[in-house]
Amino acid sequence: MTKIVGLTGGIGSGKTTVAQMFKALGVPVYNADDEAKALMQSSEILKRELIQLLGVNCYQNEQLNRSFIASKVFADKALLEKINAIVHPKVAAHFEAWHAKQNTPYVIKEVAILFETGSQHLFDFILTVTAPVETRIQRVMDRDQKTKSDVELVIKNQLSEDEKINQSHFVIFNNTILETQRKVQEIHNEILKLIENS
Ligand code: ATP
Repeated sequence: MTKIVGLTGGIGSGKTTVAQMFKALGVPVYNADDEAKALMQSSEILKRELIQLLGVNCYQNEQLNRSFIASKVFADKALLEKINAIVHPKVAAHFEAWHAKQNTPYVIKEVAILFETGSQHLFDFILTVTAPVETRIQRVMDRDQKTKSDVELVIKNQLSEDEKINQSHFVIFNNTILETQRKVQEIHNEILKLIENS
């Protein structure tokens, strides 16, 4: 059975950058956030359930109306949990079907909120990517045209880096691309060895 490596880290830590490096080594990568967004667009059942919860305005011209949903969630924090309760099981099932089709020693599942949802038990190994908070803020500001306080707010609502690191099998301190590239290769070799010996 193909093992599952959970790849996580706070906003702007470099999860997607690291995931791409594993992909280049031939490791299949599943991005849970991207797949959730795609499913909210393509799954008729999911659409119906979201409309039931949020009203018809959550889709506009057949497209998910993100700003409408964000404003609803902002005004009602419990709503996010309700949305997650609808979306997460669908993504989990979609991932299971994808995972069953893979035949590599392991796959990577990129999940932004892994510890926060208590889903550690779903993974054979967990890899956390981290970088100094000021670096992360700057990288996200450069990438998304967000303000410093936008990014700080997200960081404030995420689990601390230390808590993630303490619960991980592998950690990448994502400073320079070159160092990270080397570390990815090292971790890839180690995972293969661990699987071979298991
Ligand atoms: P999010 O949580 O917001 O999805 P993420 O953890 O997936 O972010 P990335 O998108 O990989 O992070 O990286 C954030 C930004 O920083 C991107 O624009 C990326 O190109 C850049 N970046 C990532 N790692 C490095 C690095 N080592 N050096 C310079 N820039 C980097």
